[in-house]
Amino acid sequence: MMIMKSIYLDYAATTPVDKEVLKAMAPYFSLKFGNPSSIHSFGQEAIAAIDMAREKIAKLLNCDFSEIIFTGSATEANNLAIIGFVKGLSEDRHRLIRANRGMPFHIITTNIEHESVLEPLKELQKIGHEITYLKVNKDGFISVSDLEKKIKNNTIFVSVIYASNEIGTIQPIKEIGRMLEKFNIKRREQNLPKIYFHTDAVQALQFLECRPDWLKADLMTFSGHKIYGPKGIGGLYVRKNTPLLPIISGGGQEFGLKSGTENVANIAGLAKAVELVFKNRETRFKKILNLRNQLLNYIIKDNKGTKLNGSLENRLPNNLNIRFPDVSNETLLIALDQKGLSVSAGSACSARASKASYVLTALGLTGKQAKESIRITLGKDTTGKEIKKAASVIKNSSLYSNF
Ligand code: PLP
Repeated sequence: MMIMKSIYLDYAATTPVDKEVLKAMAPYFSLKFGNPSSIHSFGQEAIAAIDMAREKIAKLLNCDFSEIIFTGSATEANNLAIIGFVKGLSEDRHRLIRANRGMPFHIITTNIEHESVLEPLKELQKIGHEITYLKVNKDGFISVSDLEKKIKNNTIFVSVIYASNEIGTIQPIKEIGRMLEKFNIKRREQNLPKIYFHTDAVQALQFLECRPDWLKADLMTFSGHKIYGPKGIGGLYVRKNTPLLPIISGGGQEFGLKSGTENVANIAGLAKAVELVFKNRETRFKKILNLRNQLLNYIIKDNKGTKLNGSLENRLPNNLNIRFPDVSNETLLIALDQKGLSVSAGSACSARASKASYVLTALGLTGKQAKESIRITLGKDTTGKEIKKAASVIKNSSLYSNF
């Protein structure tokens, strides 16, 4: 019996490890297996690999070696950026005095962040800090002037996702960074605390300009497995002099910010993946955008009443999020999977729960409409043939009406 190979169009959930990445990782599993904290030559070999990886990423992001922290995932990096920052500020007496002695701090974010930003913020809210959630418009964007209006004397942190993992919309990060920079100059004169700026660039790194000095970001999160690197590795850019304390304590690895023996193979793999992203960004962007637009045209033409969720402008080139009126996404996903097409109902983390996506309802969709929507995300190896096949599978499967 011939086994049909499924078409994978869920690259925002995760990506396969690139062959070159795998090659860069291979020596650190059994040949160069030393503990980077060991003094002997095995340890030295391992720490040298970590230093090289950090150096490479720092160079590509145009920042200092000491500003890159390796974490166990982007989830961990987001938690460190948020909880670690509030801990750091709370224990920094000098800065605290300016921050009106601290409590409560005011933090501004959006209502379409990834759970790994929203959940730590909820924790902070529980202990008395104040969180403002900026609303996106029906196209999926926040407005810089809206953000500016929400700033208060005790605002100390802003966290805005660079590109949405569900609808691919790209937020005006550079504009926010510049606005905050100007604001901070005035605040300094008024003896008010600096507002630090964090962006979750997990989905953006592959396609968009992400150098923190250009974005004017103080903290920036990225992840290995969304860019053809391994799972279980993330990174956090932390601008010098940003108050930050660890959320995991122990042996003091990663400049004291992330204790635990380093995952040398994953770190080497992440550096290679970032290198490949920078090398291939433009060609991948164009190729994927072209295929994505073809697929969108097929879907809209073939399936009556289908609608794209979120703006087509200022959207990641690999993302489609489409509503099929009166078709349940759960049923549709199963039907598609059976016919050899793997797509998603939204964020990978909540994909198993049959809840309506909070990102889609934030755009103004009803719960029912959100549950009629699927996310399709293309990757660097997606082919024109796969796109044609995917379009025909969707056409044949979306006929089932099941509400
Ligand atoms: N942030 C965004 C925007 C994501 O898409 C994801 C993963 O889905 C994460 C954070 C979490 O990444 P990780 O799987 O490395 O924890």
